[in-house]
Amino acid sequence: MALSPCPILINGTWSVPETAETSDVHNPSTGEVIAKVPMCGADVVDSAVAAATAAFEGWWQTPPVMRVRIMMRYCALLEENFEELAAMIVVEHGKTMTEARGDLRRGIEVAEYACGITDMLKGEVLENVAPGIDCSMVRQPIGVCVGICPYNFPALVPMWMYPMALACGNCFILKPSEKVPLTGIKLIELLEEAGLPPGVFSVVHGGKECVDALLEHPDVAAISFVGSSPIAEYIHKTGTAHGKRVQAAGGAKNFVVVMPDADFGKAVEGLTDAAFGCSGQRCMAGSTAVTVGEASERFIPAIVDSASALKVGPTHLSPEAKLGGVITPQHRDRVSSLIQSAVDEGCDLLVDGRNAQVADYPDGFYLGASVVDKVKPGMTIFQEEVFGPVLNVMRMNDLEEALDLAGKVSFGNGACIYTQSGRLAREFRHRVKAGMIGINVGVPAPLAYFPFSGWDYSFFGDLHLQGRESVMFFTRAKVYTERWFAPGEGDVWHQD
Ligand code: NAD
Repeated sequence: MALSPCPILINGTWSVPETAETSDVHNPSTGEVIAKVPMCGADVVDSAVAAATAAFEGWWQTPPVMRVRIMMRYCALLEENFEELAAMIVVEHGKTMTEARGDLRRGIEVAEYACGITDMLKGEVLENVAPGIDCSMVRQPIGVCVGICPYNFPALVPMWMYPMALACGNCFILKPSEKVPLTGIKLIELLEEAGLPPGVFSVVHGGKECVDALLEHPDVAAISFVGSSPIAEYIHKTGTAHGKRVQAAGGAKNFVVVMPDADFGKAVEGLTDAAFGCSGQRCMAGSTAVTVGEASERFIPAIVDSASALKVGPTHLSPEAKLGGVITPQHRDRVSSLIQSAVDEGCDLLVDGRNAQVADYPDGFYLGASVVDKVKPGMTIFQEEVFGPVLNVMRMNDLEEALDLAGKVSFGNGACIYTQSGRLAREFRHRVKAGMIGINVGVPAPLAYFPFSGWDYSFFGDLHLQGRESVMFFTRAKVYTERWFAPGEGDVWHQD
């Protein structure tokens, strides 16, 4: 199979740079190499930043309503190319077509939200802060913004960033994950087609060297990052040390509490998707089920049946396949070794997905669903983000113990509860230590118009991605204080 081209975009021109190194992009369901991504360094980053800096003045002077028209055309083009884009996500990521459509749909919703920027950018005015003096606040774009993305949502995560940044009047440089660069390239080809002027948008590829050049560049104003927590922490520290605004979303370990009064059918359905959907490669994965009291008796056998029934296979070819390959063979081995650590530390492995085989695709990076029971605080599998199709089960006596447990984890992305009691649900959502809460919902990922509000070790920075917080992140306030004198007027009131 011919390799897909993996170009960069600088100043309106796509080209494949001559880099010393490339990195393989796989179809995880077959193991085939489908592209070789150039690992760019500081020279490419310098050119991208120079093009963006030169384009900035023209773009931010473009009336917001004209920027919105481009975004509206972009939304239409995304719809026209929806199925092609979703299929691309399936091939380079391994998730199912339904999941890929969701990935893209949630991203398009951010672009649609950005079409309302004319309202969101409006400032504030207070007349007569002193007699004859008015004060007003406007929001202006910050300059050249950068987006550094993880592999697990090839469409959604980049789109959390650039539609809002552009609508606010900034130029943008995207560094897609080097593991899934193809969807990002197609997304930006469509943005160019929608009429974005040259230089406003650049695409560069690479890993640490490329990221460090972006973090250190004096003409970059802001960094949006999504990825694992240790890297998020590094990005925040390095970016802020170089004087940039940084929003850095990290990893997670999300609990789903199942109360004895839960609707067990819904809880099992919700947790099957939350734990095993996208092969567990979601920052909002419900990776730990916390059963309270007698809930374990009904929940555990049902989730074991549900997990065992999930079919592993090539998601780009077979609609019945619910789990494609995970992103790389190294990641498959890491997940397998975390499962082994749980066994070694005394857990019961109720479903073991480690030896999943797909006859026609022996080179795919497959893992079936696994269920690990009797996980205890302090175990490796309790501490680490597994990021694979693995559900931990922990048994608690009451809600108080479950809340206490959530308080002990360093991450703070999501937490959910399944219950029919409004009182317990209210108690849970009010007190649990996490930024995104689900009540009878397994994956409480907020949509475009709400912030993606991770806490603690799941987020570094002040202003989150999505919602009005992203308008604040991609703009800065300017306050005007003004008074005007009539000709010959001399009698102006002074406070002192
Ligand atoms: P990752 O941290 O390995 O990589 C993310 C990005 O950082 C990539 O673009 C990569 O090239 C770059 N990078 C990697 N190592 C680097 C280094 N040493 N220095 C500088 N840059 C580096 O993450 P991943 O494996 O691609 O994605 C999975 C992670 O992302 C999971 O931890 C998941 O929870 C997290 N995630 C979080 C959210 C959220 O909203 N909180 C959303 C999606 C994914």
